[in-house]
Order: sequence, then structure tokens, then C-alpha cells
Amino acid sequence: MAAGYNLIMPIHILPDQIASQIAAGEVIERPASVVKELIENAIDAKAKTISVEMRNAGKDLIIVEDDGVGISPEELTLAIARNATSKLNSAEDLFNIKTLGFRGEALASIASVARVSVKSRTADQLAGAQITSDGGVVSKPQPQASPRGTQVSVENLFFNVPARLKFLRADITENRQVTGLVTRYAMAYPDIRWKLKQDDKLIFQTTGRGDRREVLQVLFGSQDARSLMPLTFHEQDISIEGFVSDLSLTRSNRRDITIFVNGRWVQDPALTASVIKAYNTLLMVGRYPVVVLFISLPTEQVDVNVHPSKAEVRFRNSDQVFSTLQRAIKRGLLAYTPIPELNPASLWGMRDLPRQFEQETFKIEAQPIEIQKPKDSGLSLLTVPDQQTQPALPHQRLPLLRLVGQVALTYLIAEGPDGLYLIDQHAAHERVLYDQLVSELHANTLSSQKLLTSPTLELSQEKAGVMELNLTALHKIGFEIEPFGPNTYRILAIPEIFTKGDPKEAVNAVLNEFEEDETPLQAELEHRLAARICKRMAVKGGQALSDAEQRELLSRLEISPSPRTCPHGRPTMIHLSAALLERQFGRTGPI
Ligand code: ADP
Ligand code: MG
Repeated sequence: MAAGYNLIMPIHILPDQIASQIAAGEVIERPASVVKELIENAIDAKAKTISVEMRNAGKDLIIVEDDGVGISPEELTLAIARNATSKLNSAEDLFNIKTLGFRGEALASIASVARVSVKSRTADQLAGAQITSDGGVVSKPQPQASPRGTQVSVENLFFNVPARLKFLRADITENRQVTGLVTRYAMAYPDIRWKLKQDDKLIFQTTGRGDRREVLQVLFGSQDARSLMPLTFHEQDISIEGFVSDLSLTRSNRRDITIFVNGRWVQDPALTASVIKAYNTLLMVGRYPVVVLFISLPTEQVDVNVHPSKAEVRFRNSDQVFSTLQRAIKRGLLAYTPIPELNPASLWGMRDLPRQFEQETFKIEAQPIEIQKPKDSGLSLLTVPDQQTQPALPHQRLPLLRLVGQVALTYLIAEGPDGLYLIDQHAAHERVLYDQLVSELHANTLSSQKLLTSPTLELSQEKAGVMELNLTALHKIGFEIEPFGPNTYRILAIPEIFTKGDPKEAVNAVLNEFEEDETPLQAELEHRLAARICKRMAVKGGQALSDAEQRELLSRLEISPSPRTCPHGRPTMIHLSAALLERQFGRTGPI
């Protein structure tokens, strides 16, 4: 039994081709891994332009073309051989790696699982040369006209490894993987002109002018891109640049935490954890930020030779890196926190409110209100703090009110310690709904109600476009809406506070009054939508309210931090102060 293995076959050195395939298994998992290796080679070759083209999700063809230093004809054969690299000489070099490649494995690995041809020309050659390898059988280099740089084409990927082919995901998934990869590299190397085509469709291209933002939009869409704040941070020999999401933009997984270390995209759990920690209590449990960060530090402080796919790194001083990273993110967040903290003053055009009001905005909690206990109810109207000492700020909280009743099915009348309140039921309800929605949104406690029957909305092409633009924001404020055929959507859930109203009407409020250029920030967009919908869903004038409903409305208004205006800035109430009444009745002066 001891010789069990030998019963199968004697120990032997694996033929190069098989060894290559085994090695390939570690790095070449899918079309995106081919693209990654090839663009890394192009970057190492100091390309200024890199174009990636693929067909049939990369299974039929992947072409990566660059205008880098090129490979001379006599080196072509070596380039494609295993463990052949121009980037590493000695074992010492391993600890000071400045290039993305160094293992000399990628081209050989790809060549062992596909048909590969490399065409290249260096600056000092007139004509270029080409070499092909068919499942590892390598041709002699042939002279071939070529622009300066290198073009690698990979055909029939995994033709000889059917198991791999079978494990590939749907084309759309594989394509998206490549898009995610190339866009991220385009962000990491904004000085390179990038171009990505999939099945003849131009997915994106960049100008190479060093602007990371242009790629950010491709990567996350323009809505989300607006919630990403630029970050630049230097501390000792570590520099951190990139983008971090404000608190309005989160994901349900960590996939949108992208970190590059010295120009290399790494997927390092410890680094990711460190980013999440920087957001600490700012995000709800189970929510993750969107982050694209580029960390640079001296090469000798990073060990990239941890894993064949080079996706993990080890830092010489990881504590320092992690804590610098967290400081950078926290600093960035601190500088921007005003954004998600809704300030209606700036939203609704009331810019000159006292600072202290802005700070207390939307901390919705009932404040203890000091009222003077009426000594005798008949005189309660007169025990009013003097108007001089307590100026009536337009947005001051309300005192406790006593409901008197409804007039003209439109106004509520209430009595407070400082006089009489005439309240517009529609504007007041609008305010109350809006406050609740926004406070739930900020506290991440927004509750949606699934609809038993999901109403469908058939929209015009244009309205469907508007819907598409607003889907994310609607989703954030508690609407669950999904495409349901061409230009058709169905509403699966709506915020709980609107369940008394018509879901279609709520959504239509957004679609019908949308103006494209009014989408400055994601957070602001959500609040605008919220305000619109609340307006539509609020009780109207002319609607009878039960006693309980009137009371409920009043007590909700009492806890609002800005009860005196609706979210659009119109007054919700008219206050007839006791002093005013006194004057009007000619009672001023000693009675
Ligand atoms: P590595 O990148 O780890 O060195 P590869 O197998 O990816 O290994 O590439 C082998 C060698 O081929 C590289 O070291 C480089 O000299 C050369 N090479 C590959 N791609 C390019 C390219 N696009 N431009 C110039 N040289 C290249
Ligand atoms: Mg390489």
C-alpha cells in the first residue's frame, strides 16, 4: 500500500505544457484575468494608449493593443516562454518591485490555454515581428508590419480546458467583469488613453488627460459619482488619493471598495476591513461604502509576491498603513459631512437662517418645551412670554397645542400658550410626511411596505427615461420599482408612510414634475423627490379629518424642527399671538 502512488504512475517531471496549464489555473480563470495580465504588461511597457477589444465575452477573441516600448523579434519567443521576464533579475529584486508583472508567467499561461499571437515593434526597428502559439505549440517569429508597441490577440480561450469554459458565467457577467477591471485601471492610470470595445460596441474611452472623474462616471453612473468625494492625503511616505462615498451612497456588499497599492489593484481583506472601519458607526450595519483609493508607498515596504494572481499584498508596517488609511478617509468624511445632513435652508432657497437652526435641523426628537402652566384656564392666552424676549423665528418649534377644531374642511384651529394657530392641513401634512421620511432616511430606518398587488406604470419613452434616472433615488427613499417590459415598470413596495395613498400617484409626482437639470447631488435629489411625493400624498384642502386625525397631525407638527413651513417653503400656519389679539381688541395696557 505504501507504494500506492507509484501504482498509478512513476514520479516524473511534468511536460512544460501541462505545467503551464496548472500554473495558468492559478492566474487565468476567466476572460477578465487575461485582460488584466495583458493590460498590466502594457502599463509596464509604458504605454500611453491601451485599447482592449473582445468578442463573445472574450471566449472568441481578446485583443489588447498598446503603444509601449515593444518587444524585439529575437525576444518574442522568450516573452511567451514560462518564467521569462524582463522585469526581474535577482531574488533581491523581489523585494523592490516597481512593475506590475515580475513572474514571467502570464503570457505562457495564456498561451497554454488559447491560441495566442503577439505582434510587436520596438522604437528602433523598422518592421515588427509576430509569433503565434497554438495551445502551447510556438511558431518561429515572422517579420510582420506593426505599429510601434505590442498587440496581443487571444483566440479560443480555454478551447483545450473544457472544464474552465463550462465554469464561465453568462456573457453579460464576464463582459461586466472586464468593464469593471478596465475602468478601474483607467482610474488608476488616468494619464493613459484607454478604450474598451465589446462586440464592436464602444464601452468607454478616456482622454488620458489625467482626469479620474471621467472614468468615475463610467464606473458608477453619474448619479452615484456625484456622491463620491475626492480625497488627497499624505502622511510621511504614504500618499492616498481617490474617492470615498458620502453617507448617502452605500452598498449591501464590499464589492465597490476598490484599492490600488502602488498601481496594483489588490483585493486584500485586511485593507478592505480597514476602510470599513473608517466609516465605523456612520453606516448602518450591513451597509458598505463605495471607495476607490490609490495608495502609494515605497516599494520596499510592500510585498506583492504573496499570491500568483498578485491580488494580495503584505505591508512591512501594516498598522501604519491601516491607520493612515483610516485617518485619510475620516478626514475626507469630516470635510464633507454637511452633504447628507439635510439643510432645508439651502434646499428651499432660505439661505439666511441662523447657524444654530441649521445644526438642529432634523434631529427629530421632542424637545422639552417649557410652557407656563396656566393658573387659570381662562387666562391662559395672556400668560405669554414677551414678544421682545422671545422673537418668533419662522422655524422655531411649536409649543404644545390644544386642538380646537377644523374650519372649512381646510384649516385646523389650535390654541397654544402664546396665542392662536390657524393651520393649513395640507401644508402641515406635507411637512409632517416629509420630516418623517427624511428622518427615517437619515437614521437608515426607512420602512417600506410591500404592495399586495403591484401596480404597473406604462410610460412614454421620455418618462421611462426620467424613471431610469430616478430609480436609485426612489429606491433610497423606500420605493421598490422594477422594470416590467419595455417602458413599463411595476411598483413592488412604497414607503410605509404613504400606504394610505395611491402608489401610482406617488411615483407620478416624480415623473411629471421632473426637470433634468435640477439634480445637483444625490442626497439633494432624494430630498427633492421626497418633498414632491409628500406634497402629492398629503391630505388636501376640503377633506374632512376625523378628530383623531386632526390631533395626530397637530402632535406630529409639534415635534417637527421646522413646523412653520412646508418643505417647499410656504407657511403651514398663521399665528395670531396673544399680544396681537390683545391689540386688535384694544385690550393693550392695564385692563
Ligand atoms: P511578466 O509580466 O511577469 O514579466 P509576462 O509573461 O506577462 O511576464 O510577460 C513576459 C515578458 O514579455 C515581459 O517581461 C516583457 O518583457 C514582455 N512583454 C509582455 N507584454 C509586453 C508588452 N505589451 N509590451 C512590451 N513587452 C511585453
Ligand atoms: Mg505580465
